[in-house]
Amino acid sequence: MENKILATSAGAMAGSSLIMSTSAGAMAGSAIIADSSGAMAGSALKTFEIQPEKEKRLRIVTTTVNDVCQLRCPGCYLGESIRREFMNEETQQALLRGGYNHLVIAGKEPFVSEAHIQKTSDLIRRLSDEGITVSAITNGQNLHMVPADVLRSLTYLDVSIDGGNKASYEATRLGGNWERLVRNVRDAKERTGVRIHGLHVLNAQNTRELDQMAGVTSLMPLDLLLFSPFTKTERRGVDYTTEPVDALTMIRTASESPTFKDNPKAFLYLGIYRLPEIDKESLRECVAEKGTRAILINENPFNLGVIRVTHDGKIMTPDESLHTGKYHSISRKVALDTHLAREYQKLVA
Ligand code: SF4
Repeated sequence: MENKILATSAGAMAGSSLIMSTSAGAMAGSAIIADSSGAMAGSALKTFEIQPEKEKRLRIVTTTVNDVCQLRCPGCYLGESIRREFMNEETQQALLRGGYNHLVIAGKEPFVSEAHIQKTSDLIRRLSDEGITVSAITNGQNLHMVPADVLRSLTYLDVSIDGGNKASYEATRLGGNWERLVRNVRDAKERTGVRIHGLHVLNAQNTRELDQMAGVTSLMPLDLLLFSPFTKTERRGVDYTTEPVDALTMIRTASESPTFKDNPKAFLYLGIYRLPEIDKESLRECVAEKGTRAILINENPFNLGVIRVTHDGKIMTPDESLHTGKYHSISRKVALDTHLAREYQKLVA
């Protein structure tokens, strides 16, 4: 497959924002670009190819079912764990009431322990019974413990990777085990046939290893591999030690990577909706000139019908969901009679 640009305004942009330095071409000054990692919806925007509609309506809800993870990734936008409990029943009821098409379980780690696997599995089964499709983002470390019927019922599974070999993976995913990840992804595919997408978040350190990261599809049966930029958000807890990489470096590095170029499953995944028109155009030209395979997200996911509901019942826009350090100031909360489609319309108004 030839390298190409897929311009899309849809989907799964999971977006942090990143200051993009504009050292090349006609790019005008510095600009904010949003990434596509777990914060908004993993690979959902790409998967569903959502296009803007005249009448805005709620289409995708992203949710954190808990606030706990067994890993300690330095770039995690969800920051420090505050409460270790699972999503409360009131919030689960609001999700089950529907009014949207698809639920993305975006964190923190839905399969962190046996107890949370059971609770996440029950929720997925109940949602499926209500006709709501579900996907999940996971670090993959406990995938072998997830029941086959649950994996089979998912539209797809996003697995966060961020490394191309044992050393780079374990340096980024502190506490993770590379062999276990590879084994679990292979096993999940073999056991259930679930569609699996790999997510790489690129930062200043691991971008140098992009070529190897593009080759993980030869180790694991991934159906799609997305590279998005790391960004610093206002998160809870410790300061970031990870540094962002600018979008032009990502594009150049991908264009120079033989493995990326030869891998039809690999795409850069860039949220360009915050850029002014002139910068969007310059970035598109840069992608075309380099012949890099890229998905460019033109529209803010909120305008495409995406909202976030947290495990403790807060309702927020995708942009708000990036900044866990500001969650305390969000007062929109799920109540007994909350209907999420109506909450979305209130936010739109
Ligand atoms: S695996 Fe995901 S949720 Fe867990 S610490 Fe890493 S980035 Fe955060």
